[in-house]
Amino acid sequence: MTRPIRVAIIGSGPSGIYAADALAAQEDVAVSVDIIDRLPSPFGLVRYGVAPDHLSIRSVRDTLDKVLDLANVRFIGNVEVGRDLSLPDLRRFYDAILLTYGASRDRSLGIPGEDLTGSIAATDFVNWYTGHPDTPPDAFAEFLSTATQVAIIGVGNVAVDVTRILVKAPGEIEHTDMPQHVFDALRASTVTDVHIIGRRGPAQATWTTKELRELGELEEAEVIIESDADASDAASQSAMATGKVVARNVAVIEEWSQRPPRDARRRIHLHFRRRPREISGDVGVEQITLERTQIDEDGRAHGTGDLSTLAVDAVIRSVGYRGTPVDGIPFDDTRNVIPNAEGRVIDGGSPIPGVYVAGWIKRGPTGIIGTNKKDAVQTVGHLLTDAADANFRTAAQPEESAVDAFLASVTVVDVPGWRRIDSAERALGATRGRDRTTLHDRAQLLDAASGVTPD
Ligand SMILES: Cc1cc2nc3c(=O)[nH]c(=O)nc-3n(C[C@H](O)[C@H](O)[C@H](O)COP(=O)(O)OP(=O)(O)OC[C@H]3O[C@@H](n4cnc5c(N)ncnc54)[C@H](O)[C@@H]3O)c2cc1C
Repeated sequence: MTRPIRVAIIGSGPSGIYAADALAAQEDVAVSVDIIDRLPSPFGLVRYGVAPDHLSIRSVRDTLDKVLDLANVRFIGNVEVGRDLSLPDLRRFYDAILLTYGASRDRSLGIPGEDLTGSIAATDFVNWYTGHPDTPPDAFAEFLSTATQVAIIGVGNVAVDVTRILVKAPGEIEHTDMPQHVFDALRASTVTDVHIIGRRGPAQATWTTKELRELGELEEAEVIIESDADASDAASQSAMATGKVVARNVAVIEEWSQRPPRDARRRIHLHFRRRPREISGDVGVEQITLERTQIDEDGRAHGTGDLSTLAVDAVIRSVGYRGTPVDGIPFDDTRNVIPNAEGRVIDGGSPIPGVYVAGWIKRGPTGIIGTNKKDAVQTVGHLLTDAADANFRTAAQPEESAVDAFLASVTVVDVPGWRRIDSAERALGATRGRDRTTLHDRAQLLDAASGVTPD
């Protein structure tokens, strides 16, 4: 009897888990799947991206979690490809490698002052409030205990998430799974004003209407439209005529512009048609220089030379995520993705046998969680087609357990270990009437995985 094909999936975010599910669910080809993740916990950005106050979206992890219980699927957590395992190692142990390691670095603005203290990548701030072990628990203690005016550059859903987390009242986040020190820091936060800055108009913003609307429904914060929310130009009119979401977004902002002031404790200021030119300050961030823009017929922003400054204590840069390369795999530096043809990794125009890609690192940081399912299914379809080739199973393959022996010196978190982390987080949450409290520190996560009860 031929042995099952061995597939290593690198990354346990939605695309990796959906790919494992698609491989395990079919019966044509016998498979054995190892999902390898650099973190001790699975689910990628579902755990470390999706906003903690969006409980229903975060609950998708219950669905993803079921895949880890499948008989032919293993979780190998706390193992980083590029550090603990190289690509040649993976080639030795597996017939196929499916890269689903995401795109979780921030894109830069490319303006002076971006590196000043107080200029913060949204990726880092999101990591902090979701309890990502790469971001120290006290990373934003000083920012939150001193800043009152904060600028957020970018008009997408991540900017909206960050704004909400900054201005929500303690009672509005009390039920979430954020680490306790995050609650404490947010509760004591000095931030009073968040300025969301967009290069173009309300019709060109990429947020979705549901998320946008939430900003106008917060207990302690009111929205103030500061500049150039007009959408009567040709590009905006055409975008509204062809896009329902765009038209709804513009309508929400129009409605807000007519609301009487509420004298709320916190304010969200929307600045449209302003592009950042410089972040400046003697020691840390003190102000941001903005240039007024005009939108041409194609919806592109052009500077007008009309400059203004905004006094702020911090700038959060939320202009998108990008993927990074892994040693030995081709990379498209322009699109920040791994070049591929429907998931088969391409080098010099031809597919590399046995190497595949899915999710954000395949197509870039777009779409919703569900988009990764279709995407992963497409890649797995090609992998299974290729598996029919007699050469697909690498002749020199060692035994299945060889990868375990290779990783003997690494503290691997397996599915039972992850279940222990899960139980420890639920138990910690229960002490304060919450479903869960996320453990932040890697050492705490590893302790919990090995059965040590967290303090
Ligand atoms: C802030 C934020 C909020 C979001 N909110 C929503 C939302 O509300 N609704 C929605 O539908 N979508 C949301 N998304 C989008 C959604 O999270 C993504 O579509 C999805 O997570 C992409 O899945 P992925 O598996 O490709 O990547 P990821 O989820 O990033 O998973 C990649 C995994 O690979 C691992 N990894 C990375 N490098 C290595 C390595 N070298 N070795 C081993 N493992 C590695 C990572 O630890 C991670 O677990 C949000 C995204 C962000 C950034």
